Amino acid sequence: MEKCKKSLWLVLLSAFLGILTILSSCSERSEKRMGKIEGSSLYVSKVENLTDDFILGMDASCVPALERSGVRYYDFDGKEQDVYKVLADNGVNYIRVRIWNNPFDADGNGFGGGNCDIDNAVEIGKRATANGMKLLVNFHYSDFWADPSKQAAPLAWKDMEIEEKAQALYEYTRESLEKLKDAGIDIGMVQIGNETNGMFCGEKIWFNMQQLFAAGSKACREVVPEAKVALHFANPEKVTNYADYSKKLDYYKIDYDVFASSYYPYWHGTLDNLASVLSTVAETYGKEVMVMETSYAFTSDDSDFYGNTISDGGTVDKPFPYTVQGQANSVREVIDTVANKTKNGIGVVYWEGTWISVGGTSYEENLETWEKYGSGWASSFAKSYDPNDAGKYYGGNAVDNQAFFDSDGHPLESLRIFNLVKYGNTVDIKADAIEDASVIIDLNDDISFPDKVNAVMNDNSKQYVDVKWNTEDGLIERMKNGGVKKYEISGEASGMPAKLYVSMVEYNYLNNWSFEDDDIGNWVLHENGKADELYVEDKATDSLTGSRHYHFWSSSKDSVDFSLEQTVVLKPGTYRFSISIMGGDGGDTDIFAFVRKNGEIVSKDSMNITSYLNWDEGQVEFDVAEGDEIAVGISVKCSGSGNGAWGKIDDAMVNSTAG
Ligand code: CA
Repeated sequence: MEKCKKSLWLVLLSAFLGILTILSSCSERSEKRMGKIEGSSLYVSKVENLTDDFILGMDASCVPALERSGVRYYDFDGKEQDVYKVLADNGVNYIRVRIWNNPFDADGNGFGGGNCDIDNAVEIGKRATANGMKLLVNFHYSDFWADPSKQAAPLAWKDMEIEEKAQALYEYTRESLEKLKDAGIDIGMVQIGNETNGMFCGEKIWFNMQQLFAAGSKACREVVPEAKVALHFANPEKVTNYADYSKKLDYYKIDYDVFASSYYPYWHGTLDNLASVLSTVAETYGKEVMVMETSYAFTSDDSDFYGNTISDGGTVDKPFPYTVQGQANSVREVIDTVANKTKNGIGVVYWEGTWISVGGTSYEENLETWEKYGSGWASSFAKSYDPNDAGKYYGGNAVDNQAFFDSDGHPLESLRIFNLVKYGNTVDIKADAIEDASVIIDLNDDISFPDKVNAVMNDNSKQYVDVKWNTEDGLIERMKNGGVKKYEISGEASGMPAKLYVSMVEYNYLNNWSFEDDDIGNWVLHENGKADELYVEDKATDSLTGSRHYHFWSSSKDSVDFSLEQTVVLKPGTYRFSISIMGGDGGDTDIFAFVRKNGEIVSKDSMNITSYLNWDEGQVEFDVAEGDEIAVGISVKCSGSGNGAWGKIDDAMVNSTAG
């Protein structure tokens, strides 16, 4: 906008000079700064306070390799189009590109992942600049993928001492940036290393790493002083990491502007935590912060015969359904978090939203293409450089279900999110998907399934709806007799597919293990103090499983002193007893899970109470011989502090550990 105003000024002042040029460049720009795209079916809640320079970026490093593989991209009108123009037209203002020093073997065969060398970056940079977007240069300083688990130095630098390596890195950075600059590319930011968590370019100690950061930063300042220098880390969920890294960067006086984080919702904790750890860095050292990589699946289906990182099931967090709307909602939340809940948040970059299938109709056909053009994540030629990962698992695209284009290159509605977050888009609230349900069933219990599930609405609110599960003949019987095993059951709710994950778990030898029964009779209380409250409480939010647990509280000091135990009949063998407790204000405590054999406590595991919902599990392994009389339990003794000790006990299990 600034530039347009200035241009208009010039038009007024010197009516003869290049009016046409100025007007045309201005109209091109205003086209880019277009208003809201109308008619979208996406529900989008507006993100407040988004400035024009807030980075809405897309890593699109694989595009040239995909195009060589035959991929074509289209705009929303179905017209074949330069994908970088499609991105710009939909609100993307930054293109990120990774650069590997030399991703080719001795015979010139590409390692894959787009064969992203400097020439690839020049091509992408030109196309980004031509479409009014800035380039975010991502130096891995490796010949192939660098991430928290691998930071191999380029082959040519492998045997260098640190000083020599720093010099090589400095020169390489200078030369590469000069190449980009000479091509007329608008470089907005340069990152020195990719996800450099405690390792960088073959170095594993910070004293060496910092020399490399400094060398890269120096080259950036010299060649592109107008660009921002970023450092990039991952795993914000490990809450002390970023405080540690930023402290070290400060100690070594590294010259940088932006502390950037990856944020993949599946693994990287909550957005509140992300905002908190980034804000701490911003507040402590006055740095700008951003999300350098994020993505989300729009489907659980694979489209290129090479399995995906994210699909149905698994143990990852799934805060949104894997739908086009869910993908848009995830991106919207990340943008909102960085823009409004994070101190000095300057942007969000989506990772490889243009990486789609190469389009063949079989694995064999695609493999040939991946090998030839480097359009899969790794080719077999990467074996020499990365034998343990690429060498074993080379193949296609593991993130095609997280792109913003379908497998034919047509944009998904979710691509409009980068435009619509600025304005919001109101559509009717309707169900978008059915939330996965899961149950854990003891092999000894009756098998029953939930009769209601959550429908996730397009605004990400939830509604409880009836569900019908497909339990074909004999399934229940097979589950009953199938031992410890997991099952996936499909169903239907509100006309949409539903999924139930059932875990059949080992037999628990204890009765009333979760305090759900009315009759507490199996549990024996030994009360040695004078606690004010000792009883089974019905309060689901305070229970580990089910709605009930055993509750204690006392107002006076040293009055919490009791044990709760249950006698259990066991055949000779080996077993594990476990029980959980949470609570607080304990003062000096002596809390332990125990196993009593023939009247004597033979084994115990000490436990503690710390804070609300902070459950501590005690575990005791024990063996049983013929004729042994066994009891298990928990002993709780607290001096109490303040208003007295309180706590909740739940989920007592005795399981066989044999076999
Ligand atoms: Ca795939």
